Amino acid sequence: MGFRRRVRPILDLLFPPRCVYCGKLGAHLCEGCLAEAQPIGKDICIRCGNPMTQRGLCHRCRRHPIDPLRGIRGLFFYKGPISQGLRALKYQGVRDLAPILGRYLSAYIRDHALSIDYLIPVPLHSQRLAERGFNQSELLAQEVTETLGIPTQRAWLQRIRPTQPQAHLTREQRLVNVAGAFAVTADASLHGQTILLIDDVATTGATLRACAHALHQAGASEIWALTVARAHIHTVRTDHQPALSAEEAFLLWDGARRHS
Ligand SMILES: [Zn+2]
Ligand SMILES: [Zn+2]
Repeated sequence: MGFRRRVRPILDLLFPPRCVYCGKLGAHLCEGCLAEAQPIGKDICIRCGNPMTQRGLCHRCRRHPIDPLRGIRGLFFYKGPISQGLRALKYQGVRDLAPILGRYLSAYIRDHALSIDYLIPVPLHSQRLAERGFNQSELLAQEVTETLGIPTQRAWLQRIRPTQPQAHLTREQRLVNVAGAFAVTADASLHGQTILLIDDVATTGATLRACAHALHQAGASEIWALTVARAHIHTVRTDHQPALSAEEAFLLWDGARRHS
């Protein structure tokens, strides 16, 4: 058990944490707020993980298979307590949010009995890492390692050039921005291994695909990605309106995303 985990109960007693979403004393994200988090659920595209009215393969993935990344799974919509929690972890350095949010990643892996050899957190460029002092994806992966015992390889994949923040880029610009930004280190032994990339939030998945490309080149046999949240995606709610076809649902999602 790590030092932070051992001293946590004492620190909590002396300086009770406050929920980053509702401000209540007791936890960095309280149970009430976590209960409000919106899971993406099972009706998704089995490749890119985007929500659909029914489980299947979205039209973009039919046209452009996302190999060598086998699939992306994001657990929650990036809104409310989840986006607030992830932002507080990343930008305010509330590192104690990593075990709270990382727990959902462990639960997903356990519940789906995923057979994974190594976890690889999406790396930050060394410059960004020096500014922030930690990599939030690595803290999330570390939580899974402590819970399930799947080893995290934090040094095997590196971001070899700084990239622009992806937030205001189009899908095409994102791909260009991250192409060739990642490289596998010489001591990595990826041959024949099943890898799970871990990140806090995914949008188009361009970063994850660039990582997967580098890992695949280095011999990894199967690469998946798991993130706490997916941003800029919209599910068509079938409980308020007649069910849309998967095609219509996808077009609606894509149109909404393009304008955001
Ligand atoms: Zn709360
Ligand atoms: Zn898809």
